[in-house]
Amino acid sequence: MTHDDEKFLRRAIRLAADSRAAGDAPFGSLLVGPDGTVLAEDHNTVLSDGDISAHPELKLARWAARELDPATAAATTMYTSCQPCGMCAGAIERSGLGRVVFALSAEQLADLKPHASSAGVRQDGPALLEEARVPVEGYYR
Ligand SMILES: [Zn+2]
Repeated sequence: MTHDDEKFLRRAIRLAADSRAAGDAPFGSLLVGPDGTVLAEDHNTVLSDGDISAHPELKLARWAARELDPATAAATTMYTSCQPCGMCAGAIERSGLGRVVFALSAEQLADLKPHASSAGVRQDGPALLEEARVPVEGYYR
């Protein structure tokens, strides 16, 4: 963790505080490019957008995948006030971003959420392999 890492993490924490002050959940994130400039920043808008996926990490991962070439994305760092959740971690991986630096860990966040529940969703499968593979077969080359 460098001095610059801490500087950008403090910005993410500031975005989280601003998000809470604006009536949204207290999470903020930013992207810092290879030359150390801030490329984009965002905060949680789940409540104001009525969108369960409006986490700042997911929004910035989508922005990076759309706006950055692969080499720039790989040299870009996401700074975020809290460790990305599973949904966001998947999107970040797909975006090609090269590094994530977070402040609170998921475990530390859970300690701050007295009524949190983490019951998973039941998933049944795999099934119907011969039928399900037809639209996929040959797509990836
Ligand atoms: Zn998330």
